[in-house]
Amino acid sequence: MNSIELYKELPKTNCGQCDERTCLAFAISVVKGSKYLNLCPFLQEDKLQRLSRSLKKVDITAGILETLRVETVKYNIEEIAGSIGARVVENGIEVRC
Ligand code: SF4
Repeated sequence: MNSIELYKELPKTNCGQCDERTCLAFAISVVKGSKYLNLCPFLQEDKLQRLSRSLKKVDITAGILETLRVETVKYNIEEIAGSIGARVVENGIEVRC
């Protein structure tokens, strides 16, 4: 289940009782894993259980890896390696201990 799918299941009142400004922000936080679904007091127990089961099927690994890929290209790895006494080798960094 992604954020939009979860959002469609929420009350969409943007009441803020979950400490997010909008239901969409709450859905994104839940899917990211930074908020628990039960922080929305308007979800009935049966719906809460059903949505929780769907959320457990989400594999966040791909999202994390993509974030890492995007973030790491911002850095000059050779420069960083040199600054810590390491060097870039074929598929990584070699650090001498
Ligand atoms: S508490 Fe529920 S209804 Fe209120 S903003 Fe959060 S998700 Fe939306």
